[in-house]
Amino acid sequence: MFKIAVLPGDGIGREVTPVAVEVLKKAARVFRFELEFNYGLISEDAYEKYGHPLPEETMELCRSSQAIILGAVGSPKMDRLPPELRPERAALLPLRKMLGLYCNLRPVKAYPELLNASPLKNELIKDVDLLMVRELTGGLYFGEKYRRTREDGEEIAGDNLEYTKSEIRRILEFAFSAAGSRRKKVTSVDKANVLTSSQLWRETAGELHEAYPDLELEHMYVDNCAMQLVKYPAQFDVLVTENMFGDILSDQASVLAGSLGMLPSASLGGEVALYEPAHGSAPDIAGQDQANPLATILSVAMLCRYSLQSEEAARAIEQAVAKALAKGYRTPDLMSNGMIQIGTEEMGNLVIKEIEQSNGV
Ligand code: NAD
Repeated sequence: MFKIAVLPGDGIGREVTPVAVEVLKKAARVFRFELEFNYGLISEDAYEKYGHPLPEETMELCRSSQAIILGAVGSPKMDRLPPELRPERAALLPLRKMLGLYCNLRPVKAYPELLNASPLKNELIKDVDLLMVRELTGGLYFGEKYRRTREDGEEIAGDNLEYTKSEIRRILEFAFSAAGSRRKKVTSVDKANVLTSSQLWRETAGELHEAYPDLELEHMYVDNCAMQLVKYPAQFDVLVTENMFGDILSDQASVLAGSLGMLPSASLGGEVALYEPAHGSAPDIAGQDQANPLATILSVAMLCRYSLQSEEAARAIEQAVAKALAKGYRTPDLMSNGMIQIGTEEMGNLVIKEIEQSNGV
């Protein structure tokens, strides 16, 4: 039995997660997987019950599972807590660290049906199909932090950006091997003109490239990369970068797919893998049946691909999403003239119906 921990979290996480779980259950029936789902608390619900956004009960549930589906964390109430209790810092980061999830994958693909939903011109995005590989357990977010008042009375704060060579190597290895089964190009993003950690990153990428002679390696400064992502995004195949650069660039890349609501992610590297949409808890639309569940549905497709090793099931879910869009169904974030507006749950039901129709169920 394959054990999955489900952590819906806050805001729209509570709406999109159950919808994606239903899609996964349908895929499990069609492709004959035996899945066991166990639910856990994270962020506000956990804080209310246990006084901490990541209680030991939830950590134990995650450790004893093979995959985790996470909705999103963050709520107005949690955002008012002291920094050490806020859910990103006290729940998400420790969860990634505890499970050794050093590799975050965010595929960004332009859907022909959604070209008009992107703020970029159609001709710029129509051929976009890239994979963002982000280092997830090192760098600034995990480095030493301090805040104090100096002797002259000035307040000072800092965060340390540190990487070991082996941390850099393992994430680059992931990117090179992913590129091998794609279009064979790796863009390694850094800021080697000013950061020492980036100089080690660049050197390591160059050394590792020798073992992959059939792949093209390109180095790009992060500021140039931000520009290239809007100027000519179809040039990219696999982009690999450190934690904070990846955090920023992957949100930027999300608009290429039309909406944050379309962007899935997988965090790999340990024995347990974590799947979550790239978006947050969207308190502005929470509880209104407006959230786009497709990012979470596409995240469970990634679960099929990477954890269940079923390319067939992953493709069936992805194709069902594409078909629902091709028929003109849209959540409000994707709406354009002539399309049919629907809510979160209805979008999930349509994807399930498409899986059934394509697989003779
Ligand atoms: P957000 O991603 O929640 O929302 C940004 C904008 O995109 C909002 O206008 C929102 O309505 C829209 N949006 C996001 N997902 C959508 C979806 N599925 N369907 C339709 N529209 C969608 O980012 P934010 O507003 O900066 O942050 C809100 C909260 O989420 C904060 O507490 C933040 O800390 C948290 N957050 C959590 C994660 C995570 O859990 N991994 C990531 C980012 C932000």
